[in-house]
Amino acid sequence: MKETILHIGFDDTDSTKGMCTTFLAYKIVEYLKQEKVKFLDYPYLIRFNPNIPWKTRGNGAVALKISTKKPNAIKKKITWFIAKHSAIKDGANPGLVFYENKEIPKRFSEFGKTALCDVINRKKAKEFASENSLETFYIGNGQGLVGAIGAIGYDFRDFTYELISYRRKSNFGKKRQIIKDSVKMMQKATFPHTFNNFDESKDRVLIAPHGPDPVFFGVRGEDVDSVIKGASLVNSKEKFDGYMVFRSNQGTGDHLLKELDAKNLKPFSSGTLTGKVLEKPKIEMGGHVIFSIGTDNHKTNCAVYKPTGLAPLASKLIKGDIVKVGGGVRKASKNHERILNVEFLDVHKLEKNRILENPLCPKCKKHMKSRGKGQGYECKKCSQTSQNKISKEIPREIDEQLYLPMLSAHRHLTRPLQRMNRFNTTITFDNSKKWFYNSN
Ligand SMILES: [Zn+2]
Repeated sequence: MKETILHIGFDDTDSTKGMCTTFLAYKIVEYLKQEKVKFLDYPYLIRFNPNIPWKTRGNGAVALKISTKKPNAIKKKITWFIAKHSAIKDGANPGLVFYENKEIPKRFSEFGKTALCDVINRKKAKEFASENSLETFYIGNGQGLVGAIGAIGYDFRDFTYELISYRRKSNFGKKRQIIKDSVKMMQKATFPHTFNNFDESKDRVLIAPHGPDPVFFGVRGEDVDSVIKGASLVNSKEKFDGYMVFRSNQGTGDHLLKELDAKNLKPFSSGTLTGKVLEKPKIEMGGHVIFSIGTDNHKTNCAVYKPTGLAPLASKLIKGDIVKVGGGVRKASKNHERILNVEFLDVHKLEKNRILENPLCPKCKKHMKSRGKGQGYECKKCSQTSQNKISKEIPREIDEQLYLPMLSAHRHLTRPLQRMNRFNTTITFDNSKKWFYNSN
């Protein structure tokens, strides 16, 4: 029998109450391993536009690329997995797609790019599927088809890896007992080949979620060996079920590559804007900072929220500064206008901050006093006079540099500082690496 190449993508199987698309992928890979299919790449974990409101948690989709002699049996079984294990009662709208072809046409990656920075409605996804002979399966409204299609065709401009370990069922819902110091040590031992494991400034473990989902912890990094090594250094009394390594767009900042059109800011789109600060930023109740920038004669309001840690810095901006901001567009409502939620602040050029003050007496080095409106200034000590105020430059409390949110406010896609000039571009797959492990 002939081998066929089968691309499998699925999304939106999870909910806020537990379950997780990557865990379902882990269970599906466990099954595929038993079926002795040939894997052609690591599983993909693709994060899409984090700024759309109906996403489930991280908006992550999974794709698998395999070669098999019995595609029909496999499709049937995977469809069963998705139907059985998706959290449909909790509001998941799972979507599953199969594509049997060696190559993935370019229009798939275009679709993925749009899903990353914009909003694609499910109708478009269904149309795309039928125009491109994708086999689809969905429950609910079919929103999951968007990520499922986007994931199989994802075009990595850069990528990272994440090893995700999963809990045994008997531990679901229980507190995760991870030894903090081991994560701290792991970070030191694997830097800069892993990232965002531990927040030194807050003395906080970042690798483990807190919810009822089956994820035990996840280690992110630049190569398969490093994430496996990192995970092996994490100590806990809890025995985990197994783990899987994903190729991912996490940490690439790919959702903020596109330059937004200031004249036509689409709600929920993500990207960047460069412009001149139009007025002194306002600090709102709760510590959020609002400012506006002008781009192509168009004013855009920007919000910097307190949890990002960027608000105190943003409050130091002044009129005339040139900045590039990246983030997502929040829809206008009754109470607020359309606004860009800032995810990073890149200060390109600082304006000189000048104030006018009374002239200095050259002899006494004291500020002169006003002699009344329009009558100039006079030194109270030696009576020296001067007509005009002098301009003084105030040092700025912000620099011309890139400012990122605090680690705890990083999103899955946020490019961490240590990855600023790092790009993984060569896709290689080494099946001899232990990218999948199951203790059962
Ligand atoms: Zn004087």
